[in-house]
Amino acid sequence: MSQFICPNCEYVYEEAKGDPREGWPAGTPFAQVDPDWTCPDCGVREQVDFVPIAEFERNDQDGNIIAAENRGRGDQA
Ligand SMILES: [Zn+2]
Repeated sequence: MSQFICPNCEYVYEEAKGDPREGWPAGTPFAQVDPDWTCPDCGVREQVDFVPIAEFERNDQDGNIIAAENRGRGDQA
């Protein structure tokens, strides 16, 4: 089971959990989520805009893995 993240607001869709509020039962593969479905948090991004969370976390400028929850604070270490 994979996880996919909204690049806009960092909402995470977990295939193992699905999103019953949105009509996707636990275990729903992300590929089966409607391409027209929009992110429940920001409503800006659609299913096709989401990226695998592993790629998102790996995509740090310095090559460091930074958890999504620690990104976007504007801190410069
Ligand atoms: Zn979003």
